[in-house]
Amino acid sequence: MHLQNVRVLGPTGLSLPTTVEINAAGAVERDASGLILSPGWLDLHAHLRDPGFPQKETLQSGATSAAFGGFTHVVAMANTRPVTDRPAPLRALMARAVDLPIRVSFVAAVTMGLEGRTLTDAAALRRAGAVALSDDGRHLMDKATLRRALRAAAEAGMPLLIHAQIERLGNGPESEAAAVEEALEALQAVPGARLHIQHVSTRAGVDLIRTGKRHALRVTAEATPHHLALTAADVLALGPHGRVNPPLRSVDDRDALREALAEGVIDAIATDHAPHDADAKAAGANGFHGFETALAVVMDLGLDDRVLYRACVERPREIIGQSIDDEWILIDPTAEWIVDGGSFKSRGKNTPFAGRRVRGRIVMTTCRSQIVMERVMQHA
Ligand SMILES: [Zn+2]
Repeated sequence: MHLQNVRVLGPTGLSLPTTVEINAAGAVERDASGLILSPGWLDLHAHLRDPGFPQKETLQSGATSAAFGGFTHVVAMANTRPVTDRPAPLRALMARAVDLPIRVSFVAAVTMGLEGRTLTDAAALRRAGAVALSDDGRHLMDKATLRRALRAAAEAGMPLLIHAQIERLGNGPESEAAAVEEALEALQAVPGARLHIQHVSTRAGVDLIRTGKRHALRVTAEATPHHLALTAADVLALGPHGRVNPPLRSVDDRDALREALAEGVIDAIATDHAPHDADAKAAGANGFHGFETALAVVMDLGLDDRVLYRACVERPREIIGQSIDDEWILIDPTAEWIVDGGSFKSRGKNTPFAGRRVRGRIVMTTCRSQIVMERVMQHA
């Protein structure tokens, strides 16, 4: 497909309008004046709820939703039912993922059943296709187990991703700081290991990661669009619909995340897409739909274009060792729309952004050289 007059997002920022040929079957010339072409975004942190919770999401509904959100590659967490802690079910998931509209990679559990005690077989899970290990949703490993997990992941050639909260301390800011500190200590003791901190939400967490990076520790970190955009005050009125873990924090914490993202202390933006059925959400389940609001929320942060590329395209792939492969998104940066969970392709309609007027929308997504999503835009 020839795209004319399109600006391209790359490592050095946004290009001037130019003509680009992309590999996408069945399409021809297209005037893309005013639009931005970017390699598809990679989401390091998604809950696709499959197997086990089809009322919340499936591989198919999640992948379709991701395509509409501008993600051509998402990484699914292991806290499904059963937990992805053995090679055979992982291989079954990998086989099903081949037919999805976008690329889905899988994280396997660090410990059996996410219980924090017995390590999974990292090498076998790696051979079955896992891109990383994480007990996300839980964090029950003691220091010794954490060190052994880092060593096992490193030997298998994978990063260890952690949901940094000491469970017995709850989910307050001090719990995140304690978990990050403990994990960095463990990392120091295991040469060659790579540690990735999921959904960092506090200034204290950011400061510890910054110090670790200054000491050349191999630590990376992600922040979610909702922690970058919102604070506790924004969801007070939402009651159970405002519940998420880590919770939304103070203005100071949010500002620390934004600064850290600009600096590169926070490497990546990851959604922590956590769909729930309406009953579960009303009953207080933690988590927000992430895929279909991410682009508009992130674009509203006013990031430098180079930071946007680094956080949404480049660093997520580097962290899990993946490359860009004929996957593109076409963005209309000026399109305004009102967030309505009912319109999501995802089965999870639970969004803290409901009713907000936002700017920035995906016009087209291609993956594996196919157009997998195209939206007819109303231009003023
Ligand atoms: Zn988590």
